[in-house]
Amino acid sequence: MSDQFTEADLEAYLDEALSAEEMARVETAVRGSPELIRRLAGVNARRDAGSHSLGEIWRRHRLTCPSRGQLGSYLLGALAEGEAKYVQFHLEVVGCRYCQANSTDLANQQAEAADKVASRRRKYFQSSAGFLKKK
Ligand SMILES: [Zn+2]
Repeated sequence: MSDQFTEADLEAYLDEALSAEEMARVETAVRGSPELIRRLAGVNARRDAGSHSLGEIWRRHRLTCPSRGQLGSYLLGALAEGEAKYVQFHLEVVGCRYCQANSTDLANQQAEAADKVASRRRKYFQSSAGFLKKK
């Protein structure tokens, strides 16, 4: 199954030279294929002769990090399924610390915003309730 990608594809993947769609396709395939992970690691080892784990490679290059907007939509459950899976993979499997920090930050912001809306609604409700009583 992992031979659906050529060495050139994998090289391009490591260089982030594929389209977002193709990057996601490779990442999805990698997820279910230890063989593909070995091939990727092999390609990378030949390239820089370093001994880095794939996780390190990913983190080092921050491969295909979703945008802050995408992360925000992901947290709100507003992404299409494929895109959401991709972001989830990036956060949970790749474990990109940059995006994890970013999404924690966004989640806090969203929680604060939700609080503000709730208290605004409360105030509005209380003031209109008071207004109704007076009449
Ligand atoms: Zn990232």
